[in-house]
Amino acid sequence: MISRRAKSIQPSATLSISSKAKELARQGKPVINMGVGEPDFVTPRHIIDAAVKALNEGKTFYTPARGIPELVSAIVDWAKRERGIDVKDENVIVTPGAKYAIFEAIMATVEENDEVILLDPSWVSYEPCVQMVSGKVVWVPHSEGFEDAPLEDYVSSKTKMIIINSPSNPLGVVYPKNFLKKVRDIAVDHDVLVLSDEIYDKIVFEGEFVSPVSFDDMQERTIMINGFSKTYAMTGWRLGFAIASEEITKHMLRIQSHSVSHPTSFVQYAGVAALKGSQKCVEEMVAEFRVRRDMLMRGLDEIGLRYAPPKGAFYMFVDVGRDSMEFCKELLEREYVAATPGSAFGKAFNTWIRLSYATSRQNIEEAIRRLARFIEA
Ligand code: PMP
Ligand code: GLU
Repeated sequence: MISRRAKSIQPSATLSISSKAKELARQGKPVINMGVGEPDFVTPRHIIDAAVKALNEGKTFYTPARGIPELVSAIVDWAKRERGIDVKDENVIVTPGAKYAIFEAIMATVEENDEVILLDPSWVSYEPCVQMVSGKVVWVPHSEGFEDAPLEDYVSSKTKMIIINSPSNPLGVVYPKNFLKKVRDIAVDHDVLVLSDEIYDKIVFEGEFVSPVSFDDMQERTIMINGFSKTYAMTGWRLGFAIASEEITKHMLRIQSHSVSHPTSFVQYAGVAALKGSQKCVEEMVAEFRVRRDMLMRGLDEIGLRYAPPKGAFYMFVDVGRDSMEFCKELLEREYVAATPGSAFGKAFNTWIRLSYATSRQNIEEAIRRLARFIEA
């Protein structure tokens, strides 16, 4: 009864671990959830107020599939301000979460047997999106230090897309300009699309965030993905967007109009408030993430665990030296600390785990204590 397409994919590891952790917490267990990448901050007040106002004003009807004109226009302004590019409304599509923008972008561009290049490790949902359209994922290992990768050795006549995620989930790497320039050169020389998932662009502690669209000839071939979940602590609201060529957004829009129609009407008004309002809330959250990152780095150094040096996002990718699935299962059962196994992020990191530090300082301190006890046992 079930299609090959549905059978080809597994449930999202990050979301399943989160559900398991939340279930244990509901049962009264002292769970520390470092499994899911979800800011623990409540959405800033002015953003909530905008949604409530929209509801009270009766903004409860269908909206245009692309998104409400106010939000599309705010995203056009955002592209100019944040990326220095001129885009039109036709280049923008507002989606229910960045994840759905990624799904639509891949649905709209990748054919059966097309190759899509993914850096190993990469976030959990890219590979299933490619599998759902019967494309083929080509995993490319990082070079030492995780800031470069030999993409040139993996490009073929079948390569359709390279997916870049900077700052990266799960590594926290902020890719340097010379690596992105290499991505640009490969994309232009081989006529390849770049899906640039920039959802963590504001969460940078060291180094400089660079978007592939900042290079010549890249605007037409880059599908830029962004969203509100991380920057504005809006995971449950489901709001994201993509900026791409008119041709690509036109086809993403067709998929959207026949599937989810559009993101929830009043949530889009909250999105306008987020983009147009004061960005002080973002600065405050990023400053707090930095303190937490430093705490976790110190803790892991004391325990003696090796990790990829995180410069952005809110993850640490940590080498635990044994099967990551077993490690995470035992850590959750014995110490009630949820973490995500490295095996969920690619092929080469079965002995690594991902810790999300989007949780309180107190939780991080306690998690370090429990982790040390777990490792010593
Ligand atoms: N991209 C990356 C790299 C992520 O970590 C996430 C996490 N949810 C998403 C996209 C999707 O975000 P959302 O759908 O909540 O906007
Ligand atoms: N992106 C976050 C994570 O990687 C949230 C869960 C998800 O959407 O995968 O944990």
